[in-house]
Amino acid sequence: MTQPYDPNNVFARILRGEIPCRKVLETEHSLAFHDIGPQAPTHILIIPKGAYIGMDDFTTKASDAEVADFFRAVGEVARMAELVETGYRVLSNCGRNAHQEVQHLHYHVVGGRDLGRMLG
Ligand code: IMP
Repeated sequence: MTQPYDPNNVFARILRGEIPCRKVLETEHSLAFHDIGPQAPTHILIIPKGAYIGMDDFTTKASDAEVADFFRAVGEVARMAELVETGYRVLSNCGRNAHQEVQHLHYHVVGGRDLGRMLG
């Protein structure tokens, strides 16, 4: 059984303006801000404004407009951070085996240094 969305998770609180963030981009359906514990010179998180825990509920419940807005925001953040030429990594931890820490869907955009190889 999947858990219900917790409206008091830290990203929901950022969306409500209850805790601050270093905003990078805001669109109709998405918000991007700097990760509080950066793993590289650039480490930005992109979240949908809707209450989605992970890819499963996002891709089955969100509207086409929300999904399109979100993925366009991911690409736009990489452009804004000037990561396109040197390259960057996009990843999302979903669920227990991936050690998802915050239970609101988020994509990490990481770059600014050689990130090494992942998955072999
Ligand atoms: P996860 O393991 O993919 O769920 O990563 C959650 C990310 O959220 C981690 O990289 C944290 O550093 C980041 N994070 C947690 N709290 C905050 C916050 O208040 N502002 C910005 N980033 C946060």
